[in-house]
Amino acid sequence: DTMPIEADAVIVGAGPVGLFQVFELGLLEIKAHVIDSLPAVGGQCVELYPDKPIYDIPAVPSYTGLELTENLMKQIEPFGPTFHLGEEVVKVERREDGRFDLETSIGKKFITKTVFIAAGVGAFQPRTLKVDGIEQFENSQLFYRVKDPELFRGKNLVVCGGGDSALDWALKLVDIAESVILLHRREEYRAAPASVSKMKDLCEEYCMQALTGQVTGYESQDGKLTEIKVTGLDGVTRRLPLDCLLVFFGLSPKLGPIAEWGLEIDRRQIVVDTEKFQTNIPGIFAVGDINIYPGKKKLILSGFHEAALAAFAAAPYVFPEKKVHLQYTTTSPKLHKVLGVE
Ligand code: FAD
Repeated sequence: DTMPIEADAVIVGAGPVGLFQVFELGLLEIKAHVIDSLPAVGGQCVELYPDKPIYDIPAVPSYTGLELTENLMKQIEPFGPTFHLGEEVVKVERREDGRFDLETSIGKKFITKTVFIAAGVGAFQPRTLKVDGIEQFENSQLFYRVKDPELFRGKNLVVCGGGDSALDWALKLVDIAESVILLHRREEYRAAPASVSKMKDLCEEYCMQALTGQVTGYESQDGKLTEIKVTGLDGVTRRLPLDCLLVFFGLSPKLGPIAEWGLEIDRRQIVVDTEKFQTNIPGIFAVGDINIYPGKKKLILSGFHEAALAAFAAAPYVFPEKKVHLQYTTTSPKLHKVLGVE
């Protein structure tokens, strides 16, 4: 059992709004820990559209999802947030002393004065293959993400899915694996046209195969997955021997443990007021896509505004004695000091 980390503020979620929350807290001299279940920061911007330009960030005519994230990281650098990535927040509980016990999926514990839930649409999890019993092969022969492509060297692979991840990985693994079969439930692919035509070329050159159908069963021997059963559009089920099965059905957000923290929830979103963006539990704030209030629009710029007001509302929990005044970053010597721009 490790000692809990004592904190003034813990931010759940490192999407754009969670990152900007660090900035707004930083101006008020509140240091933050940021936790995200994904291995990288950026939330939807990095996970779903890293290369697509966003056109409605005030004063930034065009930023890709990745550029926005990189520049938010640069902007919050002076405040030295501590990141805990690849960990899901599984528990938030109010303590007798008014602070909160918070725990992550790897058992890391925090005691914090305030909590900022910036969890977007929830924690992203890969959509799984719905075949009874196949989950026993997860991370040995069944994979939903690729950490190290070398793992598949010389193997016979079946890659399921018709989107960009499935195509990108199939094309990449062709050079590494012994064989690659791309399996998709329909004839049409959702991936970038360039990837689709490259895949078709490779199929014509017999470098890989593309099949239409769905995994409906499997065979195993001595605890090892030996073949899958694939039911085609013609209704015929065929057997496909393999070493590894890679499934890319996309990511689906799960509200997950957040639903169990005693927060008022309306249609999978956390209810807040529009003065403080505070939840029904004093000291817990919710900002960005995860919250709901009359007139809510799920936009990054709205989340930024919410983060600013939530930070001011949280200050009394962290510094009960201190009066907090609004100061301008342009002119305030005090803010210049905290920003390190003196
Ligand atoms: P997210 O970006 O969803 O980040 C939340 C993070 O919290 C995630 O990383 C998640 O893993 C993490 N998390 C959740 N639960 C937990 C937990 N229990 N423990 C740890 N971590 C957790 N908006 C615009 O303003 N302009 C646009 O042009 C625009 N274009 C878009 C295009 C697309 C294709 C999509 C999908 C969205 C677009 N949006 C756009 C919406 C915008 O991306 C969202 O409003 C924004 O990402 C919300 O930010 P967030 O920080 O609230 O949440």
